[in-house]
Amino acid sequence: MRNPKDISPVLVVGGGVAGITASLDLADAGRMVHLVESTEHLGGQVSKLDKLYPTDHCAFCPLWTDVKKCMEHSLITVHTLSHVKELKKESGKYSAVILKNPRYIDEKKCVFCGRCVEECPVNAIHYGWEHLYPPSCFIDEPSCTKCGNCAEVCPAGAINMELKKEEINLLVSDVIWATGFKEADLRHLKEYGSGTHPDIMTSMEFENWTAEGGINKGKIVKRSDHSVPQNIAFIQCAGARDLRMIPSCSAVCCMHALKQAGWVKRRNRMIDCYIFYTDLRTVGRDYYRYSLSEFEGTKIKLIRGKPGLIHPLPGGDGIAVQFENTLTRKREIRKFDMVVLNGNIQPSLIQYRPGQDEKTAIPPMDKEGFFNTKSDETSNFACGFGLAPADVAESVIQASAAAMRVLNKESDQR
Ligand SMILES: Cc1cc2nc3c(=O)[nH]c(=O)nc-3n(C[C@H](O)[C@H](O)[C@H](O)COP(=O)(O)OP(=O)(O)OC[C@H]3O[C@@H](n4cnc5c(N)ncnc54)[C@H](O)[C@@H]3O)c2cc1C
Repeated sequence: MRNPKDISPVLVVGGGVAGITASLDLADAGRMVHLVESTEHLGGQVSKLDKLYPTDHCAFCPLWTDVKKCMEHSLITVHTLSHVKELKKESGKYSAVILKNPRYIDEKKCVFCGRCVEECPVNAIHYGWEHLYPPSCFIDEPSCTKCGNCAEVCPAGAINMELKKEEINLLVSDVIWATGFKEADLRHLKEYGSGTHPDIMTSMEFENWTAEGGINKGKIVKRSDHSVPQNIAFIQCAGARDLRMIPSCSAVCCMHALKQAGWVKRRNRMIDCYIFYTDLRTVGRDYYRYSLSEFEGTKIKLIRGKPGLIHPLPGGDGIAVQFENTLTRKREIRKFDMVVLNGNIQPSLIQYRPGQDEKTAIPPMDKEGFFNTKSDETSNFACGFGLAPADVAESVIQASAAAMRVLNKESDQR
C-alpha cells in the first residue's frame, strides 16, 4: 500500500457538513487533507440549526461525531479561523497560502469559567458553546485593547496575546470548495420590512431564537417584548426566485418553514402559523410525507401568495402583511405578531446586491455566484450549498462525489 506522504495532500475549503464529509472520505481512503475553515469551529450552518428535517432529530448530535472524527483523524489537519489568501496553479498542482489567525485562548487549557468574558471591557472575547469542536472560544484581535484583564483572571493560564498570525504554504494536488451559504441582506427589497421591527426575522434568526438549546430554551416568544405571539407568518421565497436578488430557489425553505411552523405548534399549539407560499416544494425522500404529517398533526395554515408589503404597525403593535391570495383572488391585509422571512440564502462567497457585482472568490463562478465546475480543469471541485442550493442529504452526496473524483484521478495516474 502506498504511503499517504508520497502523494500531495488535498485542500478542502469550508468546514460545514460538505467539507467535513469530503475530508473524511479522502482521509479514510488514505489521502492527507488540509481543511480550512474561516470560523472558530467546524460544523457550518448545521451547527446553528435546532432540529433537522425530515427526521426532526437534533441537528448537532450526528454532526458532532463527524466533527470529532475529523479533528482526531491522523491524516486531516484542521485550520480554523483561517482562509485561503493565495492560490496558484503551478505545473499541475496548486500552491496555496493559508492565513491562520490565532485564537489567543488555548482551547485545550480553557475551563469555560467565563471570567475573561466578564472582565473584558470591549466584548472582544467570543465564548460560545464548549461542546463545539474545537470549543468556541477566541479573542477577536481587532476589537481587543490588550488591557490584559482576561489573562490576569484566567485560572488556567489559557490566554496568550503574544501569538501571531501565521502564513502556511501548501502544495496540493486538488482543491474542493465547500464554502456553503450565508443570508442575503433583505433590506435591499423594501417590501419585506427587514430591519424595521424586531419581530421581523430571517429564518436563521428564528431557528436560533426558538432553538431548544438556545437563549429561550425552545420557548416561542416575541423578540420585541418576550410575550407569547398569537400568530406567526412564514413568508416563502423572500428574495429568492427573484431576479432583483437571488435568481434561484433556495431548495430548503419550504421544508424548513414546515419544520419551524411544526415545532412552534408542538411547543405551543395556541399559536397560529401561516405559511405564505408560491408553490410548496417538498422534493426528497420522505419529504412529501413529512409535509403531510406536519399539516395533519399541527393544523398549520397555508396561503398561496407572496406578500406585496410587510410593514410594522404604528406604536409597535404587530406587523401588517398585505397580500393577494392567488387561490381566492382576494386582496387582504392581516396583522401578525411575528414574521419569518425564508429563502434569502446565497452562496457564501458572493453578496448579491441589486445592480452590483461583487465577486471576491478565487474559484470560477457563474453569474449567480455558484461554482462553475464545468469551466475549470479537473482539479478544482465544488460541493455543498456553494455548488447548488442543497439540503444536508444532498450536500453530503455532492461532497462524497467530489472526494471520489479526486480519488479516481489518483488511480488513473497510477
Ligand atoms: C433556516 C434553515 C434551516 C435549515 N434546516 C435544514 C434541515 O432541517 N434539514 C436539512 O437537510 N437542511 C436544512 N437546511 C440546509 C442546510 O443548512 C444546508 O444544506 C447545509 O448547511 C449545507 O452545508 P455546507 O457544508 O454546504 O455549507 P455550510 O453549512 O454553509 O458550511 C460552509 C462552511 O464553510 C465556511 N466558509 C465559508 N466561506 C469560507 C472561506 N472563504 N474560507 C473558509 N471557510 C469558509 C463557513 O464558515 C462554513 O463553516 C437549512 C437551512 C436554513 C437556512
